[in-house]
Amino acid sequence: MVSEKLIQGKSIAQWEKEFPIMTEIRTLKETAWINPGKLPFEQAAAACPLTMSDIQDASDRLDRFAAYFRVAFPETAPDGGIIESPIRKIPAMQNCMEEEYKQEIPGELWVKLDSSLPISGSIKARGGIYEVLATAERIALENGLLHEGDSYEVFDSPEFRKLFSKYSMAVGSTGNLGLSIGIMSAKLGFQVTVHMSADARQWKKDMLRSKHVNVVEYQSDYSIAVAEGREQAKDDPYCHFVDDENSKTLFMGYSVAALRLKKQLAEAGIAVDAQHPLFVYLPCGVGGGPGGVAFGLKMVFGDAVHCFFAEPTHSCCMMLGMATGLNSEISVQDLGIDNLTVADGLAVGRASGFVGGVMAPFMSGCYSLEDSRMFHLLAELADQEDIWLEPSALAGMYGPVLLAKDPVLSAYPARSGIGLEELGQATHLVWATGGSMVPAEDMKRYYETGKQA
Ligand SMILES: *Cc1c(COP(=O)(O)O)cnc(C)c1O
Repeated sequence: MVSEKLIQGKSIAQWEKEFPIMTEIRTLKETAWINPGKLPFEQAAAACPLTMSDIQDASDRLDRFAAYFRVAFPETAPDGGIIESPIRKIPAMQNCMEEEYKQEIPGELWVKLDSSLPISGSIKARGGIYEVLATAERIALENGLLHEGDSYEVFDSPEFRKLFSKYSMAVGSTGNLGLSIGIMSAKLGFQVTVHMSADARQWKKDMLRSKHVNVVEYQSDYSIAVAEGREQAKDDPYCHFVDDENSKTLFMGYSVAALRLKKQLAEAGIAVDAQHPLFVYLPCGVGGGPGGVAFGLKMVFGDAVHCFFAEPTHSCCMMLGMATGLNSEISVQDLGIDNLTVADGLAVGRASGFVGGVMAPFMSGCYSLEDSRMFHLLAELADQEDIWLEPSALAGMYGPVLLAKDPVLSAYPARSGIGLEELGQATHLVWATGGSMVPAEDMKRYYETGKQA
């Protein structure tokens, strides 16, 4: 049922009249939107409260912790204690989609495999882990246990674990953020409580409990789990609540991906400039992960990078918020949408107002797609490239098809001054946000569903 409440003094029907895209969203159509408020990079950056030095600060912090990761998580040692994922060209998948959709995709198709990030196997291993580290560092400094010049190996010691055991972490999550915060916090010695929405997969809860994480389960959706977690943490000075809807720290943790990607693209011989545009397609839930990454990419590549958010038709809260300018003032539930999707990482009905606000002048656009399409792309990517992702992580894969073919999105390149020659030299980077830790049984079911889709 469409909500009868007024939003900023207007009914949903009035909003729909003003923004016809809301009708498409409400009726669960696959929809695309180009951001009319996008500004030239220099102009957008000049008005933005966050800067490259914030990204550098986060990057330096992760570098300091590399010594800790090498000992605490030996699987990160080959990469020097840096948590990073590879990029890969996927020509077979590109051919396959071109044939299926009878549409050439100009340029080259690549994938960023955050699905294989160490420790928690999803994009949340960036921001989630970063916020735990930033908090641990602050507590260690405040308590006089950490001194300038110390190797951060000391975080892997009984003394540090004893200190952190007096503190707790809390977070609300649809699954993967809880997994990242839970694993990282428990390893450092914190007490940790994860408030899981009804979307969270059983294996994620089981894995956390096996690591002595307190998992609280809700029958309701993500917003409720977050609100409950925030409420329970608010009167406890020894509890740090990781606020996925508002945290600047999380956002900055995600943004570091851009500095790393810049190196990887250079090593792969991929140019990014006006003649060689980079299109990036990011699965979006509340917005922190894809928003943080996109922010970093804009700071690194400026006008040469074009970022799109991808969401399920039942949970496209970011498109709804950005297209209307209402940001977090509106939810998909206000339109009578159920926020139910197999893409559990994206099952969010109300976007982060912080991310929507910061990213408004930077984003190129948004689109939504059906669950069945994510499943289908999942099976196709497995068959073509032997890459195995969770459903959420496939949302970005449809973007290059839409940019070439969709009546709305295909107008984007010309509108942005990108000619056919430049388009032919473009790189499409699909951000594959999770999947390597999905148990084989679950993955088999996803794959079989995808083969039938
Ligand atoms: C959380 C998540 C996202 C989206 O990140 P948000 O910060 O919620 O927007 C995308 N893909 C996967 C697999 C996720 O777990």
